[in-house]
Amino acid sequence: MQSVALLGATGSIGTSALDVLARYPERFRLYAVTANTDAKKLATIAHKFEPKVAVIADESKLSELKQELKAMGCPTIALGGHAAIDEVARDEKVDIVIGAIVGAAGISSTFAAAESGKKLLLANKESVVCGGAILMDLIARSGAELLPVDSEHNAIFQCLVGASAEMRSNAKILLTCSGGPFRQRKDLTNVTVAEATHHPNWSMGKKITVDSATLMNKGLEVIEARWFFDFTVDRINVVVHPQSVIHSMVQYEDGVIMAQMGSPDMRNTIAYSLGFPQRLQAGVEPLNLTDIRTLTFEEPDLERFPQLGYAYKALEMGAQAPIVLNAANEIGVEAFLAGRIKFTDIALVCRSLMFGFRPAEPKTLNDILELDVIARNLARNWVDGYCGEQI
Ligand code: NAD
Ligand code: MG
Repeated sequence: MQSVALLGATGSIGTSALDVLARYPERFRLYAVTANTDAKKLATIAHKFEPKVAVIADESKLSELKQELKAMGCPTIALGGHAAIDEVARDEKVDIVIGAIVGAAGISSTFAAAESGKKLLLANKESVVCGGAILMDLIARSGAELLPVDSEHNAIFQCLVGASAEMRSNAKILLTCSGGPFRQRKDLTNVTVAEATHHPNWSMGKKITVDSATLMNKGLEVIEARWFFDFTVDRINVVVHPQSVIHSMVQYEDGVIMAQMGSPDMRNTIAYSLGFPQRLQAGVEPLNLTDIRTLTFEEPDLERFPQLGYAYKALEMGAQAPIVLNAANEIGVEAFLAGRIKFTDIALVCRSLMFGFRPAEPKTLNDILELDVIARNLARNWVDGYCGEQI
């Protein structure tokens, strides 16, 4: 029996993870669940799974969480605050941490799980983007086991099983990308929030859905792949594949390509990483190739989607640049969702910060967190100034 802490239990990945965990009560016991602000949803999850602990990041919601749990007669202990989430990720009674918080808010709990040598199933790509080599060194030292939940990285992981170090060092990653909802739209200036929050193939949280529409998501995934698999950036290529059936590929030095295919449902990747090296049933319809019939491939368009190019550039610029790019993007997406800036302005915030602000390279987790806060504040100022100018 393995004990699981699910960070970000109320989100899209959190919900998929609960669905998979519920299929294997004899293998996994949910020890802790966390959420940002939705006390009612967190209490409902606790009522169903009876974890030992439920943590709400927003401390002003702690009394509501306690009341909800009491009203349901649920014995789960309620805690509040970000530090309590990190404590849960470190708790010695926890074997597996599923990192499903969205954004840079997930960095410190990822580091806490990594430092404590956990089996870490990581969906929170922003912590790999910002943590980079510092996070990977920590994992190597602590003996933590890192398994990618992001579907592309999960696919690459599967395509690399059995490859020697030499085979890996001559291989290329072909990271697939659906192209998002605007793959064929010429003018993106008037994209609405409703259009950008509707993905053609995947059902996901709002932030990652907007990132998929700008292709920032693919940019973050290029950086994520660089660190997860220790591939140099010249060996990570993006291929647009609108059907989202192939979740990514590895091309070996003989030119042969290994591809991983499946239905676009995150329960597949969560089940794979929970069960690895075994395979678990995820409750997903098996893929039927004759229903799909056609698989197509294209080059990404870096002119309409400049953020993908910024991600490659950030890897060249040094460890500070991905943190700045990620923070600028998070603030840009937030401002777009609030109706303050246009869809195409998200790339402007990113460009302005990445090329206009050159901080020192971070060396520690604290440096990363501090830089994230500074970059966010600069991005907020940029948005405020920009909105002021437009009025
Ligand atoms: P979501 O918005 O649906 O859920 C986010 C979760 O994080 C929620 O439980 C929320 O309460 C919690 N959270 C948000 N802000 C927080 C904060 N400041 N402090 C503590 N907790 C906070 O997001 P999602 O789509 O499930 O994505 C989660 C992560 O997984 C993201 O990093 C995303 O890029 C990655 N991912 C998601 C998918 C997907 O299919 N949804 C696929 C691949 C990768
Ligand atoms: Mg992905």
